[in-house]
Amino acid sequence: MMLAYMDRAAAAAEPEDAGEPAPVAAGCAAATDFGGLVSAIPAAVVRPASADDVASAIRAAARTAGLTVAARGNGHSVAGQAMAEGGLVLDMRALALSRRPQMQLVGCPGGGNNGPCYADVPGGALWEEVLHWGVKNHGLAPASWTDYLRLTVGGTLSNGGVSGQSFRYGPQVSNVAELEVVTGDGDCRVCSPSSHPDLFFAVLGGLGQFGVITRARIPLRRAPRAVRWTRVVYASFADYTADAEWLVTRPPEEAFDYVEGFAFVNSDDPVNGWPSVPIPGGARFDASLLPAGAGPVLYCLEVALYQYPDGAVEDDEDKAAAAAVSRMMAPLKYVRGLEFAAGVGYVDFLSRVNRVEEEARRNGSWDAPHPWLNLFVSSRDIADFDRAIIKGMLADGIDGPMLVYPMLKSKWDPNTSVALPDGEVFYLVALLRFCRGGGPAVDELVAQNGAILRACRANGYDHKAYFPSYRGEAEWARHFGAARWRRFVERKARYDPLAILAPGQKIFPRAP
Ligand code: FAD
Repeated sequence: MMLAYMDRAAAAAEPEDAGEPAPVAAGCAAATDFGGLVSAIPAAVVRPASADDVASAIRAAARTAGLTVAARGNGHSVAGQAMAEGGLVLDMRALALSRRPQMQLVGCPGGGNNGPCYADVPGGALWEEVLHWGVKNHGLAPASWTDYLRLTVGGTLSNGGVSGQSFRYGPQVSNVAELEVVTGDGDCRVCSPSSHPDLFFAVLGGLGQFGVITRARIPLRRAPRAVRWTRVVYASFADYTADAEWLVTRPPEEAFDYVEGFAFVNSDDPVNGWPSVPIPGGARFDASLLPAGAGPVLYCLEVALYQYPDGAVEDDEDKAAAAAVSRMMAPLKYVRGLEFAAGVGYVDFLSRVNRVEEEARRNGSWDAPHPWLNLFVSSRDIADFDRAIIKGMLADGIDGPMLVYPMLKSKWDPNTSVALPDGEVFYLVALLRFCRGGGPAVDELVAQNGAILRACRANGYDHKAYFPSYRGEAEWARHFGAARWRRFVERKARYDPLAILAPGQKIFPRAP
């Protein structure tokens, strides 16, 4: 283990000693995150090489009055959740990079023909690393993803991990067989749905409060060869949601593998408008096809069908997939002619947000602040939400994607720590704001996020914040609801009695 102690100014200004195996998180990085809205300077960054190192750091913190510990995945939080002001930051990328081999195939008798296959992966591995390792070496891959894969396994499992696959395969927290966790008392335990289930479920979606995930066992499936990727456009939100909900409730043999969607502005604005719809290899957006009464906001439904090699010529497989998609889309009420389709490789499809990252790095908006807001909104209230918020407050766009797509509560285990709306069908609403300069001040955007949350409460929408950022017990208790909050508090007392872990979530103060 390397313990890099720094004074506060040095931690803010200096990159950490680069003598260790190329970590992404460094001293200065640990004081900030992707959001770029808050900063908290740690006393030290710890680069663990093993679960024992994680346990040693936590035990050291337990012996030191007031000292806290934050696991930092890839720092892609937006509100300081992976920071520890004056505490220890565990650089979980260092743990992943020091493990040899980084990933291991487990189970898989007869190459998977006689039993299930799993990947044992370090908590600090990026999902992108899991994808490349699984597909290249074994032709296998997890079923559930996030849109963007340069996030760590431990980071997304501490929140939920959702994407267009969630409606069918469940979120990432529903796709874990076993965890190795170092709890707040410095114990390293292996847990699963059958062994220490309370700890297992507490940690999933647990916002880092109960333990540090040092290893996860992820179920694997045969990796598709290619993906038929399609986008269609709606002028009517009612038609959009009716079709999206119909698609996510199809039986598996009639279902797509991925269903997402987003709202966009009915204009030629390059970021917020029509140009944001066509996919690489897809056609040009012909706005003359829009119905005369189309409003200021339009909707794009995005689906994907996986293709598995079946011994046929690839061209024939591709044609069969395109025909299957056409059949599946036939009953939908999208604007005819505004269809965009392409056949892409599976890895390319899952890596699609890398192109967004490259462009954002080029124009400087990757490193600018990201006042993002993520919500789960029940299907019951999504039409009102659209009227009041999307068509009301956000009708000019947000300089980034406004994702709006449904998933099913029955795919989430109620024993995890994740807080969800009450209804079976709920929508992810993700306001992924990029500040390219020239737009509203960041403070205004943060204030608008606050106004949206207040409007959700005032209007009584059945909703929950995803990646919640609250201050103080009363707000957190409201977020979880009485029964779940009681369980959350009990679990905290059981697994992290001194409240050492994840201080950046601002839920529990460190015990004196
Ligand atoms: P961090 O930000 O480093 O940490 C997040 C929280 O988890 C902190 O509280 C931290 O202490 C805790 N933590 C981190 N590692 C561990 C560990 N090993 N054990 C215990 N606790 C730990 N999310 C989705 O669900 N779907 C998406 O499609 C999606 N797309 C995204 C795209 C971009 C460009 C970005 C920036 C974020 C996206 N996210 C998405 C959000 C992402 O899931 C969260 O930011 C999440 O926190 C993962 O990021 P991270 O690995 O960098 O974790």
